[in-house]
Amino acid sequence: MLNIQTIRLISFFVLSYFINSTSAASIPGSDISHEGSIVYNIAVNIDPSTRMLEGKSVITFNKTREHTLLLDKQFEVTQAFIDDMPYAPQTDSEQSHYWQIPYTILRPHRIEIHWRGKLHPLDEAIDHEQTLGRPIAVSGEAGTFLPDAANWYPRVANGLVRYTLQMTLPAGQRGLVPGKLIDEQDEDTGYRARFEFNHPAGGIDLMAGPYEIESDHYSGIKNSPIRLRTYFHPQISQLADDYLATVKRYFELYESWIGAYPYTEFSIVSSPTPTGFGMPTLTYLGINVLRLPFIKNTSLGHEVLHNWWGNGVYPDYKSGNWSEGLTTFMADYTYKEQESAKAAREMRQGWLRDFAALEPGQDAPLTAFTSRTHGASKIVGYHKAAMFFFMLRDLIGDELFNRSIQGLWNMQRFKVTTWSNLQSIFEIISAQDLSFFFDQWLNRTGAPSLTITEAWQEPTDFGHRLHITLQQPEPAYQLRVPVAILTDEGEKSHLLDLQQTMQTFTLDLSEKTQSVILDPDTRLFRLLAPGEALPILREVMVNPTTTTVILSDNDETQQTAAALAEKLQRRTPKILTADQFLTGSPTLVIGLQHEIDAWLESRGLPEKPEEVLEKGTAQIWTLTGPEDSPMVIVSAQDKVSLEALIRPLPHYGRQSYIVFDGRQAVKKGVWPMQVQQVKIK
Ligand SMILES: [Zn+2]
Repeated sequence: MLNIQTIRLISFFVLSYFINSTSAASIPGSDISHEGSIVYNIAVNIDPSTRMLEGKSVITFNKTREHTLLLDKQFEVTQAFIDDMPYAPQTDSEQSHYWQIPYTILRPHRIEIHWRGKLHPLDEAIDHEQTLGRPIAVSGEAGTFLPDAANWYPRVANGLVRYTLQMTLPAGQRGLVPGKLIDEQDEDTGYRARFEFNHPAGGIDLMAGPYEIESDHYSGIKNSPIRLRTYFHPQISQLADDYLATVKRYFELYESWIGAYPYTEFSIVSSPTPTGFGMPTLTYLGINVLRLPFIKNTSLGHEVLHNWWGNGVYPDYKSGNWSEGLTTFMADYTYKEQESAKAAREMRQGWLRDFAALEPGQDAPLTAFTSRTHGASKIVGYHKAAMFFFMLRDLIGDELFNRSIQGLWNMQRFKVTTWSNLQSIFEIISAQDLSFFFDQWLNRTGAPSLTITEAWQEPTDFGHRLHITLQQPEPAYQLRVPVAILTDEGEKSHLLDLQQTMQTFTLDLSEKTQSVILDPDTRLFRLLAPGEALPILREVMVNPTTTTVILSDNDETQQTAAALAEKLQRRTPKILTADQFLTGSPTLVIGLQHEIDAWLESRGLPEKPEEVLEKGTAQIWTLTGPEDSPMVIVSAQDKVSLEALIRPLPHYGRQSYIVFDGRQAVKKGVWPMQVQQVKIK
């Protein structure tokens, strides 16, 4: 079973397969050739019981530069021609057959390749990270997944392609590739389906399995019929209706917000491995992921939206992938806004907390983000980028933001699009120079760190004059800093236009101010001040200077505590005994309940907080220790309860406190933010 933390990672789609691509195919009749293009006609026959694949591809090349076709060496090339002349492949050191296709002079080149070979066995025990790391073509009765990057067909190494593809599978198996389903026969003798993708695509991913297909229709804003389908394994076929109903909601949301859906279908496809991929016209999600009740309300919408951002307007990977940030903002984050202002604020605060807990060296400018390879790249590539769009909307207003989004869709559909293309569109539509905004948020690492260094007031003839001094390190960000001013009459918001490292603002107010709060709603991407965010577990887990204090003097309990510390920190822990405890660095303290209580008291640290006083076999919580250093306390009833934490606890890095009953987390939470508030005399 997957735990929740893993699922959260999985739920974000990864576009990496679309960096290169192309594909193929031959088969009767369909002509989608196009000037200045690469067009495939592919016919492929797959038998998952023997894992044999047999393919034929006819590729029309009409290009003004050379291209390379790659085919993995696990396949045997049985025939290959260029313009009806034999054209044997060469073989490179990277285990691929390849063909160099010259640029077109007079008429398009016609390349025909026949190939066959055995696919790798499907390994259902594989996890999502492994799926990302190993683009291999796998097949088995439970599922076939041929990712483009596995070179399972003679694939163009660099370039966009259009294709038709016909697949043949044994009876009981059904499959698909991104694109429009042209025809389909499902008979006792086998399954046959033909797809056409008539836009420039990054590549071809093929999926098959013992699917039960459910269909529905949606009438798009242009009154164009959109075919909705689920391709689900039999064990989850009862979920199909719910998924189909929910997916319509997303189409309504995004068509009215951005513009018409560019395709004629959308399918939700189950995978026997815990993947989470989005491709044009479909999403491919693990069976166990689809079973989770919240996926319909989160990841599904995210994947649907990728048909606009990512698979509709293509990111330019060389200059940074903006599509995950925009998708996270318009999907995951938007659903929080729909829920409540509080839920949305908590999501923003979670992003800032995670950012604050990055390990040294893990931060990178947004322009360096291509796709998620580990947790840290998500914190920048998804969360900081989503906050970028949130702040951009605050800067130019909802209406201009939405018109810019629609402009992006109208102008850049099916085009590779850079951050600077986005900037131009937002600048044209908002009629504002946004260069400082794009530059400081895209090209710099880190985040501004803001403090109110002084705030005072003096009486005037009309009321009170309030002076607020804000400070930030060099080089200064340009920020509109929200502050809340509390008076007898209530709370009022103001925006302070900060341009310098130290700047004083003067406000004439009718009432006397009691206090000033900096960015009370967390609307800026910034480094949280010490004390502003109380620690989460992750800060102690990832910090290389963390020390571990083990309180027990029993050998076996000590060993269990050390094993837990190692699992949490993913390295050999630096272990100290209770009397060696040094202050100032992040600290993990592990002990049995009575030992912990006594130790906290002897150190003058706060006792076990109310939130974890419940029943349970172990309690874990964070506190701010000496010299503002984060501290994690692990307090277990006995050795067995401590041992039970080893597997689950590392997945709760984003929490501030957790109560476990055995291996089950029964309560968890994050300490509320402590806003920067300055009282005024
Ligand atoms: Zn995504």
